[in-house]
Amino acid sequence: MAQAQLTQTFNAPQTSTHQRGYDYDLVIVGGGIVGLTLASALKDSGLSVLLVEAKVESAAVAKGQAYAVHMLSALIYQGIGIWDKILPNIEAYRRVRLSDADYPTVVEWETGDINTQDLGYVAEHQALLYPLQEFVKDCSHVTYLCPAQVVNIQYQQDMVTIDIKFADQMQTVRSKLVVAADGSRSPIRQAAGIKTRGWKYWQSCIVAFVKPEKSHNNTAYEKFQSSGPFAILPLPGNRCRIVWTAPHEEAKALCALDDEQFLAELQARYGNQMGKLELLGDRFIFQVQLMQSDRYVLHRLALVGDAAHNCHPVGGQGLNLGIRDVAALAQVLQEAHAKGEDIGNIQILKRYERWRKRENLTILGFTDLLDRMFSNNILPVVVVRRLGLWIMRRVPVVKIFSLKLMIGLKGRVPKLAQQ
Ligand SMILES: Cc1cc2nc3c(=O)[nH]c(=O)nc-3n(C[C@H](O)[C@H](O)[C@H](O)COP(=O)(O)OP(=O)(O)OC[C@H]3O[C@@H](n4cnc5c(N)ncnc54)[C@H](O)[C@@H]3O)c2cc1C
Repeated sequence: MAQAQLTQTFNAPQTSTHQRGYDYDLVIVGGGIVGLTLASALKDSGLSVLLVEAKVESAAVAKGQAYAVHMLSALIYQGIGIWDKILPNIEAYRRVRLSDADYPTVVEWETGDINTQDLGYVAEHQALLYPLQEFVKDCSHVTYLCPAQVVNIQYQQDMVTIDIKFADQMQTVRSKLVVAADGSRSPIRQAAGIKTRGWKYWQSCIVAFVKPEKSHNNTAYEKFQSSGPFAILPLPGNRCRIVWTAPHEEAKALCALDDEQFLAELQARYGNQMGKLELLGDRFIFQVQLMQSDRYVLHRLALVGDAAHNCHPVGGQGLNLGIRDVAALAQVLQEAHAKGEDIGNIQILKRYERWRKRENLTILGFTDLLDRMFSNNILPVVVVRRLGLWIMRRVPVVKIFSLKLMIGLKGRVPKLAQQ
């Protein structure tokens, strides 16, 4: 691979793409998990890729986040051929328990419900990002430029020119397509004038890591409280990740408590099923928003991951939607390239938009509905949601449908996940 990050300037490879007037077939802006997954997913496409990430590699890895990784995402990583590098450092969950405050009806899903070995996984940020960084370094089709920043883009009918700041110098590359994987604020989406719809939630999210006294038994808990959903996810080394949603002021006050008081509050909501909890490291607070871009594509531009949509963290969907976006986009681009079509053409890119926009909207709506239904004590709503829980528990077809929807097995499955 072109080890661009080790040199002071980078030179685009002299490929057939170059001879046709382009330096790369596509430029991916953002080397977070979503951008790196797209670069990896294109390994057999025959397309040349420039991947540009603003943070230095070690800083990009060192993010105190962890994610539920759904079954479809695992299948996509298997298809790429990187799953065996990820699996040893993440934890499987084999049981999911969903409950509403102290209401005794608990819905419980197990592997037997869908005849799989695991229901899903929980991965810390570095357990996904690091193997992906290493993978793209071994890919001859990818030039990985890091740290470097895309500062300007000009769209033309036949190509897109991209100004990149790298090692204090500006360079310009020509490409057929830009893919924005540059996160929820997406300067590229904004500069292209793509509007978004959505809202900021009245809640913030506290994320913390704890070590329980007893085994976590590979169980994921989603407990709905009137202040917001509260999730406990199993991690390697018998640790757990807490995702605790509460109204802004309450979340800020909880974060300001000292460790002992915070643990007492946590234990009060968490119950005693895993014994005493030990707090590991710092707590982080995140704003929560729902956002859907009006368009995922323009001529020579595609948005993926958080650049295209954001959702409430209930159910751990956000990153998984981004992974599904890139598997879909990789398939569309690879098929178009094989037929000799122009991969930056809006008509080609609309195939990706048609595939992903509606599926993402369904999940955005589902997470919003869950949050609104459960984050209140209005009596008729309490009655309806408890009836819903009762039905989910008693009617197998509803129970299995909701599980499959949440873990990605209900939409169109990309070819990468079918290998
Ligand atoms: C509290 C909380 C809990 C969550 N839990 C889960 C969960 O359990 N499961 C789940 O699936 N999702 C979860 N999510 C959502 C998940 O965190 C995001 O969906 C995911 O991190 C988005 O990844 P991304 O690669 O699209 O964007 P980012 O991670 O934001 O990456 C964007 C990258 O682009 C780079 N960049 C930006 N601009 C430029 C530029 N001009 N030039 C070069 N590089 C640039 C940035 O440096 C960055 O590395 C959660 C979110 C929150 C807030």
